[in-house]
Amino acid sequence: MGRFIKYLMCAKCGRKYDYSSKPITCLSNDLGRLDIYYDYEGLKEFFNRDYITKKPLLNQWKYFDLLPPMEERNIVSLGEGATPLLKASRLAEELGMRKLYVKDETRNPTASFKDRGMSVSVSVAKEFGFNKLVTASSGNAAAALAAYAAKAGMEIYAFVIEQAGYGKVAQLLLYGAKVFRVRGLGAEDPTVKLMRATYEELKFFPSPSFGPFNPYQIEGPKTISYEIVEQLNWEVPDWVFVPVGAASLLTGVWKGFNDYYNIGLTDELPHLFAVQSTGNPPFVRAFKEGQDPFDIKPWPKPHTIAWGLEDPYPWDGDAGLKALKETKGDAEEVPDELIVKAMKLLARYEGIFAEPSGAAGLAGLLAALDGGRVDRGDEVVVLVTGHGLKDPDIVRDVAGDAPTINPNLNEFRDVLGRRYGVKL
Ligand SMILES: *Cc1c(COP(=O)(O)O)cnc(C)c1O
Repeated sequence: MGRFIKYLMCAKCGRKYDYSSKPITCLSNDLGRLDIYYDYEGLKEFFNRDYITKKPLLNQWKYFDLLPPMEERNIVSLGEGATPLLKASRLAEELGMRKLYVKDETRNPTASFKDRGMSVSVSVAKEFGFNKLVTASSGNAAAALAAYAAKAGMEIYAFVIEQAGYGKVAQLLLYGAKVFRVRGLGAEDPTVKLMRATYEELKFFPSPSFGPFNPYQIEGPKTISYEIVEQLNWEVPDWVFVPVGAASLLTGVWKGFNDYYNIGLTDELPHLFAVQSTGNPPFVRAFKEGQDPFDIKPWPKPHTIAWGLEDPYPWDGDAGLKALKETKGDAEEVPDELIVKAMKLLARYEGIFAEPSGAAGLAGLLAALDGGRVDRGDEVVVLVTGHGLKDPDIVRDVAGDAPTINPNLNEFRDVLGRRYGVKL
């Protein structure tokens, strides 16, 4: 079977590149993201329901035909993807909904959906012959990158902001990353500045989880949409709720549904619903205010418990806005209290332990139902993107502590009533 990447094209200036020229950033346009275009006609000849159904879903590489790298032997995998689409019956009943599903991305190797993109990115780095990878984050993307780089035996450099939490730094160090806290948080992100310098001057492979420096990772989250369509037996849901930071996930999910539509495997697109916290809503504001997609106003002081969504500037916001427009989608910002409520609902009704960023999609659904923007009869999929154990400090704040008692049944009964409101 041949490979189906036609070319890469700069989202800003339209300049085209061959995959064989190993492109990473646009040469003529500062920070234009290179979008990958596929040969749908060629794919149509064999990539049909029968072909897809016959392949087992072991990990996201079931969809190798629609992903870089070119050569199968370059794939670096830890078994990412193939996550369950869980029918959330108890939660649906509580919310008065007909059909609600949770795509549980907490089950990925490093416990967030970022593994999908980093698996693709590290595979491409291997194919391009790079051995040094660099990122500008201490979050889920960096953890995922470090894990895949370790698996591939590559060197990994991580630039994190000076204030990055020790827990996250420790995880990166344990994976073998060379981690640096970078001073000087200001208008320009100092970690991105240094990542860029090591790419331009030292020829490191940049592997952040957003497009302009890494056109390949966005292909990973596409497979979430392929899986959803197949798990719904070739149906497309009415809505998919997506938490947004850089808007790469939103863009990837849209690309995935688009691929299947263009190949003729489905006959419609779902509406996409983008969710951010009121503590950092630059993308939602851009959508509501109709801002120029290439000139989205950065948020001055991001502050939210959903730290995975704290990007002050949505690097892939241009594509994200297009995704909302083309799917007749919607967007909303939700307060952190609603995100906490969503965390508790997921845990108590469905047994899914999400971090705040991971539960933000559900918080968006709660807001959308209240505002009547989504019908309770609609079929809805909520992406739950990251695991609750990612951040013990936040979990402690949300869950509180357990009371301490003597081994005495009367005291147990008494405290049960006071702490948990239960009478026995
Ligand atoms: C990164 C991240 C997001 C947001 O994805 P973007 O591509 O940055 O928009 C959502 N949830 C979790 C858990 C994340 O780590």
